[in-house]
Amino acid sequence: MIVKLKPGASERQINQLIHWIENQGMSVNFSKGENTTILGLIGDTAKVDDSLIRALDIVETVMRIQEPYKKVNRKFHPEDTIITLENGVQIGGGHFAIMAGPCSVESEEQVIETAKAVKASGATVLRGGAFKPRTSPYSFQGMGAEGISLLLKAKEVTGLPIVSEIMEPQQLKYFEHVDIIQVGARNMQNFELLKVLGVVDKPILLKRGLSATYEELLMSAEYIMAGGNKDVMLCERGIRTFETATRNTLDITAVPFLKERTHLPIIVDPSHSAGMYQMVRPLSLAATAAGVDGLIIEVHNDPANALCDGPQSLKPKSFDSTAKAIFKLREIMKDI
Ligand code: PEP
Ligand code: MN
Repeated sequence: MIVKLKPGASERQINQLIHWIENQGMSVNFSKGENTTILGLIGDTAKVDDSLIRALDIVETVMRIQEPYKKVNRKFHPEDTIITLENGVQIGGGHFAIMAGPCSVESEEQVIETAKAVKASGATVLRGGAFKPRTSPYSFQGMGAEGISLLLKAKEVTGLPIVSEIMEPQQLKYFEHVDIIQVGARNMQNFELLKVLGVVDKPILLKRGLSATYEELLMSAEYIMAGGNKDVMLCERGIRTFETATRNTLDITAVPFLKERTHLPIIVDPSHSAGMYQMVRPLSLAATAAGVDGLIIEVHNDPANALCDGPQSLKPKSFDSTAKAIFKLREIMKDI
């Protein structure tokens, strides 16, 4: 980190600042030119709040030369992280996975029927929400613990590992047999939840917040990894833009950008990205072409009567043709 001081900074003020920095466990490289004084901070600057330094009267600019995230940073971990689920399914480092299933678990019949269908089409993880973050308090809030039990039944019947969303730490007791814990977009910066998931021995699927920058997403993953949990996947699920014709805007740039910055697997959710089932196939193909490690797609056996996100859910038949196209594109990509 480089701190450029204003020309009028007194020796006493500069020494005070140097002292403060050294007290935080770093050393300072002091450089005084004719018109500028620069302090170079050496050491672990990740824990330094640069806005505190920037706010000082004598400081002109603060420049980070190293990203504030360490554990998720590819610079310190060049190899791709590969996540291995209990039944051997792998995600990352060339291993591609399609997670599919309903937005919300609604009944035993719905989740098992959908699970069988997505498995037959090549999905290797079953998705399903039991605890649902809904914009309106009057909308269906999910089946809660009973929804998790039904997902576990579907896992038993099909052998598919399951991914489901957690909304607060107290719900962790229901996730003992859930294979991947999802943190939804609205909770990406629920730091207390992230800290709890940092000490859990399970993969986490961390979704990007509606208006979160790449760095904020990476810092949220850093929260989880700082607790010791190494198995984190990042999910681009569309962001808020000025466009109102679609539910969100899929930021495809996130895929190559994040893959360059981090070794963690990158997943795309084409369903929440556009909010329209018609967009799911093209967006899935675009994400695949961009080099994503996996997709999470909403599939419902009867979208017209779904209790949540019906308009963006594929019917099993369209999911089947979409999955076929995705696998075909992956084959073609081997040669390019
Ligand atoms: C979901 O996966 O059903 C969901 C609520 O997603 P997001 O958090 O991305 O809105
Ligand atoms: Mn949904």
